[in-house]
Amino acid sequence: MDISNKGWMMKRLLLMTFVAILTVFSLSAPIPAGAQSARRVILIDPGHGGSDAGVKIGEKASEKDVTLAVALLMKKALSGGGYDVLLTRTTDASLSAADRVKAAASARPDLVLSLHVNAGFDKKASGFEVWFPGFQAAAGNGGGSKAILKDMAKNTYLNESVRLARAIEKNLSTVFPKASRGLREAPVPLLEGLTVPAVIVEIGFATHPEDRKKLLDDGTRQAVAAALAKSIREVL
Ligand SMILES: [Zn+2]
Repeated sequence: MDISNKGWMMKRLLLMTFVAILTVFSLSAPIPAGAQSARRVILIDPGHGGSDAGVKIGEKASEKDVTLAVALLMKKALSGGGYDVLLTRTTDASLSAADRVKAAASARPDLVLSLHVNAGFDKKASGFEVWFPGFQAAAGNGGGSKAILKDMAKNTYLNESVRLARAIEKNLSTVFPKASRGLREAPVPLLEGLTVPAVIVEIGFATHPEDRKKLLDDGTRQAVAAALAKSIREVL
C-alpha cells in the first residue's frame, strides 16, 4: 500500500489498528501456566471486507476476496494439528477497527497473522512483505536493521514475531521465488507488554501482472495458505 502519501497513511492506520489489537491482549489477565490449554489459538485477520474492498485485483476480485480466501484455506490447513483457528471475519463483512479489536480480545490468541495485498506506484514492485510491530525509536534512530533487531531482542514476543516473520519469508519464497522484499519493521509507537507473536503479511502486489495472476489463481492461494500454515507450525 505504498501508492502515495495516502497509501502510507493507510498503512500507518492499519498498523495502529494492529497495535490496538495487541494492546488489548496485553491488558487481558495472563492465564496461569498450569491452566493453559495445550491447544494453541491462532487468530487470522483477513484484511478489509464488505464496503472496504482494499486494492483492486483484476475485474472481479479485490484485496478483501484474496485475504478471506487465503485465511479460510489457512484455517483448513491448520485444523487437526492442535490449533484452534479463529478468523476476525469468515464472510465478506465490513469490520471496523474496533470490531477487529473486539474479536481479537475475545479470541485470546497465541499468535496473530493479518493478511493484506500490496500495491505500488512502481509497476515493477512484486513479491511479498512481512511486517512485524517494532519500536519506533529503533526505526527512527538511523541505526538500520541491526539496531532494530538489537532493540527487539529485549522483548521475547517481538523475538517470536521475528522468528515467525523469518519462517514466513523462507516458506513463501517457494511460492514467490526470489520475490521476498525482506522483513519490515513497522514504524509504530513503542510496544510495551506485547504478549503474542504477530505479523502482517502482504502477499504480492496487485499492481504487478505476474503477482496479480498468482493472486487470482486458486492453486497459488492454496500454496500461500500452506506456506503460512507451515510457518506457524514451525514456531508454535
Ligand atoms: Zn490492505
